[in-house]
Formats: sequence, C-alpha cells, structure tokens
Amino acid sequence: MSVASPAAADTILEARGIAKSFGQLPVLKGIDLALTAGEVVSIIGPSGSGKSTFIRCMNMLERPDAGEIRFRGRRVGARFADHGAEIGQGTLRRHVGMVFQHFNLFPHRTVLQNVTEGPTVVLGQSQKEAEAVAMDYLAQVGLADKRDAWPAQLSGGQKQRVAIARALAMQPDALLLDEVTSALDPELVGEVLGVVRRLADQGMTMAIVTHEISFAAEVSDRVVFMEGGVIAAEGSPQEICREPRHERLKAFLARFN
Ligand code: ADP
Ligand code: MG
Repeated sequence: MSVASPAAADTILEARGIAKSFGQLPVLKGIDLALTAGEVVSIIGPSGSGKSTFIRCMNMLERPDAGEIRFRGRRVGARFADHGAEIGQGTLRRHVGMVFQHFNLFPHRTVLQNVTEGPTVVLGQSQKEAEAVAMDYLAQVGLADKRDAWPAQLSGGQKQRVAIARALAMQPDALLLDEVTSALDPELVGEVLGVVRRLADQGMTMAIVTHEISFAAEVSDRVVFMEGGVIAAEGSPQEICREPRHERLKAFLARFN
C-alpha cells in the first residue's frame, strides 16, 4: 500500500525505491518514504526488519544498492556530481541530523565541546558564537549546568539529551532518531521522550524509529510499520497503532500490551 508521496515543494527528505543487501541478505527491498516539512513520522517494526539500515540510508550512512535519496528535491550522491547527483552526502548530513541509540558522544570532550564541535568545524562558526548557540540548546534539553561535565559523568538520559542538543546545534532541517531510548534504564526514558515531544511541538521535521508505541501514536503525524525489509503498513497513528488491520502488525503490537 505504500507509495511515494508526490514530490511536493515542502518535501524535505525523500527515499525512493531504496534497496540494500548485506552480502547475500536482502535487508531493504524497495522502500519509499517522504518527510514533509514539520512532519513527524515514526517507524515501528520487529527487530531485524531493517529500520536502522533504512534510517541510516536516509542520510547516506549506508549506501543504498538501488533507489535514491533526495534532499529538498535534489538527488544525493556519495559525492557531488557522482552519477548525476546534485548534492554530495556531506551536504545532506549538514542539513539532516541523526541521533543514535548509543549516544556516540566524544568521550574526551566536555558536554559543551561535544555540542560546539560540529558548528565550529563544519559550519565555520567562531568558538564564541558556537558556545552561545550550544548553551541555548543545552538549556532547551535542561543541561546548561552540565556544560563542563565529561560524558562519563552523565546518566544515559543526560548523555542522550546532550546528543540531541549536539544535533540541534547544527540547525538541521530534519532529524533522524534511531531508538534513542532503547539503551536507557526505564526511569530515564521519559526525560528523553519529553525532549523529543517538545521538538515535535516546535515543528521539527523528524523520522523516529522507536519501540515506544504509545509515544509514537501521540507525537506522530504518520506511522510506518516495517517488516522483512518492506513497509508493510502505513497510516495515521489511529490506523496503525489503535485500529490496526494488518495481521502481522496486530501480532507485533500485541507484544506491547
Ligand atoms: P532493525 O533496526 O529493524 O532491528 P537492522 O536494519 O539493524 O534492523 O538490521 C536488518 C538486518 O540486517 C538484520 O538481519 C541485521 O543482522 C542485518 N544487518 C544490519 N547491519 C548489517 C551489517 N553492517 N552487516 C551485515 N548485516 C547487517
Ligand atoms: Mg535498529
């Protein structure tokens, strides 16, 4: 039932016909997904269904075997002008942030240095400017007082909020979140979901891979169910999470009740 949305002027990021195998194992078998400005799309599905591989393809951390990624209508390649690409993957990643399950903070940099690294190195901001922006985002995620702490001194929830501030400091057009609460102790999940919920309320364009089904239902405009490397069902939170019709989607959701 999944079809690519027509290329609308306000489409930020679009995947068309994405296929990917690892060796003999086909992991993605033709995925189409478009993210419109301000839209929040959650991707749910069983472990091994290809969710991480797909979201990594969306910012070219994995190179698709077939299909294409378009950013604001422009085809992305490994390099500019590579096979007709209109922009290179570096440009894509400057505009599309990603947050991972395991935070991936730089361990030998302070919280503030983690957040200023991209803006100074990639965007060419002055240290002073980058620190001012970083402090704004650290305040937004409730961690301004941790600016001089080391990652090892933080809880998992705090680390993940720093990782989100770091992504935001690049002032991305869209954010990709891959199971950002899955590595957290249960009591720390809420503080991170709260930050993501506020971003959704502020109109941030996001694709969110998550096992937090009720959260997905609450914050998403659209929910996608992946299974076996395809989008098996897609629709509103109501259609997918509350009144599922697809048999394997029902079976999948039943595990969370
Ligand atoms: P999900 O995020 O839905 O759990 P993944 O995208 O991580 O699924 O994985 C889909 C399948 O691809 C799994 O069978 C996994 O073992 C395999 N896979 C993922 N990454 C690699 C890789 N780098 N090399 C080989 N196989 C991989
Ligand atoms: Mg995954």
